[in-house]
Amino acid sequence: MTSVPLRFQASPVIVGYMLVVHALAALAFLLPWPPYALPVGLAVYVSIGLGTTVGLHRLLCHRAFVCPRWVEYALVTVAMLTAQGSPLLWAATHRLHHAKADADGDVHSPQRGFWYAHMGWILNEASTDDDGWRTWCRDMAQDRYYHWLLRYRIGPQVLAVLYVGLTFGWHTVPAYFFLPVVCWMQSTYAVNSVCHAKFGTRVHDTRDKSRNVWWVSVLALGEGWHNNHHAFPASARHGWVWWQWDPGWLFIRALQALGLAWDVRLPSRAR
Ligand SMILES: [Zn+2]
Ligand SMILES: [Zn+2]
Repeated sequence: MTSVPLRFQASPVIVGYMLVVHALAALAFLLPWPPYALPVGLAVYVSIGLGTTVGLHRLLCHRAFVCPRWVEYALVTVAMLTAQGSPLLWAATHRLHHAKADADGDVHSPQRGFWYAHMGWILNEASTDDDGWRTWCRDMAQDRYYHWLLRYRIGPQVLAVLYVGLTFGWHTVPAYFFLPVVCWMQSTYAVNSVCHAKFGTRVHDTRDKSRNVWWVSVLALGEGWHNNHHAFPASARHGWVWWQWDPGWLFIRALQALGLAWDVRLPSRAR
């Protein structure tokens, strides 16, 4: 993959999509709250969050554990409710981030500005290489489902909206679906922006600018221990001590207890 050019070329499709989903999320505050909006919204948020941190990030990008294929697909499909791109795109961008973190080639480093790292790079058509998966994702290059998602990344989200609308009524869609989706999107963007900026602490002397930020971990289900993560990317556990809140790790432990995850990778005690 070549280094990413600095030019900014806004993608009309992505800008339009972002405006629509954020407007639909805001609509939740204008409509009457449907029953159980808080627990339903929270359940949707946590499900999408675990799909992303455990499925897309720790499992696919870093192979931090092994699980049955159906568990992998279930996690990835729930993560795709945010329409954030096929795992082939997601993993290619993320593996590139680890390889070049905060240097030339890292597509979402705050070196280009905080807001660029937060959302600007997503709106920039020139930031990502659509064929990057050929270089960075050879381990999943044969997967037909992930190739299907490359073409129809919006598919799972459309099906979810249809399900919620037809089952509970269209007035519930903003509160039950778009508000938690947008909240999760913002939480996960904060990992790229906040955790590579000047917030939080650096425990490990990594060659990037990653930091541990506790409140990002609260929002992003353990992803905020980002300096730990850059120090040991393949570790399934991001929060290493009891007070480092890491629901993603608790979920992997639960999968392990059920016999649905094995070969779980952790840093050695010596390291
Ligand atoms: Zn990072
Ligand atoms: Zn990572």
